Amino acid sequence: MYNQILKAKPYVIMLKKMDYWYWCRYFIDLYRICNYKCSYCETIESRGVKGLHTVPGLPDKKESIGLGLFSDIYSPNPVENKVVQSLLNFLYEKGYPISINTKSEYILNDIDIIKEFAKRDMIRVTITLLTLDPELSQELEGQKLKPRKRIEALKVLTDEGIPTGVSITPVIPMVNDERESLEKLITVVKKNGAKWILFSGYNPTKEFLLNPKWEKVKLLHKNSNELNLRYKKAKSIILSAVFKENLPIRIPRINLNKNTNGYLLNRITEYLYNISYLYELLDHKLEALRFRRATYAINEIDTPIKALIIQNKLGYIKGINPKIEAIIKEIAVNDGSSYYEKLLKKLKMEY
Ligand code: SF4
Repeated sequence: MYNQILKAKPYVIMLKKMDYWYWCRYFIDLYRICNYKCSYCETIESRGVKGLHTVPGLPDKKESIGLGLFSDIYSPNPVENKVVQSLLNFLYEKGYPISINTKSEYILNDIDIIKEFAKRDMIRVTITLLTLDPELSQELEGQKLKPRKRIEALKVLTDEGIPTGVSITPVIPMVNDERESLEKLITVVKKNGAKWILFSGYNPTKEFLLNPKWEKVKLLHKNSNELNLRYKKAKSIILSAVFKENLPIRIPRINLNKNTNGYLLNRITEYLYNISYLYELLDHKLEALRFRRATYAINEIDTPIKALIIQNKLGYIKGINPKIEAIIKEIAVNDGSSYYEKLLKKLKMEY
């Protein structure tokens, strides 16, 4: 059964630090270079320089495995996608939760096994969608990826009860950051069942800036004030629209095995990182950094977190100040954080 997987020689990639967007340290890539070759794609250039390295296998611990972050696991050639099904079956049988990121409607071919993951709350699917405009999509993503198909896939997945969200990544200034198109995109994906919206800016590749078609983007990147203003505006448009639709801006972390140390640790790091993200959106860079460092520190400790809380030893961990310590203790008791809720309310009031 796994011959196909072996034939495809999947690359298991381990990050130095967890990816706090998809909540994974390990990713599986089926292709060295993604089949779609989108004109703006950052991952082809950044491969190998962001602390990525391949490792011989998956972790013993059944932590979430990311699929499709560095190259889409679905090929435009459906025949090649049989290997994806074998891979999903393999991961399901071994008990690994998964977080899939894709632009391909071919994910629907695997709906049966995906439903099995969902029954055990072991899956998150994120569909990347930059625009609803088919012409702009074709310019950025080529002919094989159609926004309409992705919207249809989103609807089927959510109708089947699969937790699925959308990533508007990247938001490229002067390309897909117009108010009307962003607002329409968010309304349409909400209507079709999106459970979260992610978004982020763009660090243009050399190739993209050299393309005469995107001369205006190149010129904008020479004026950092203008560029920042443009990003601020896009952020404001997205956040207002997302909050209006009552959608989360983060992927809910898969967290199995309630009442274990691992569960509590995951909840704490999820809240701390989400607080850091809210501070980032509120432009409180220093506070964002503080919470991010605290998240990293908590993730590094070997002692069970519960023991540290009971023994009042959290303060000994570098980066855990009294405020963060109080937040952690509240999460341990209530499985929630009033600090996070207040901060989210503040952000919503600003947008
Ligand atoms: S589908 Fe994603 S990974 Fe593949 S080329 Fe396009 S942006 Fe890059």
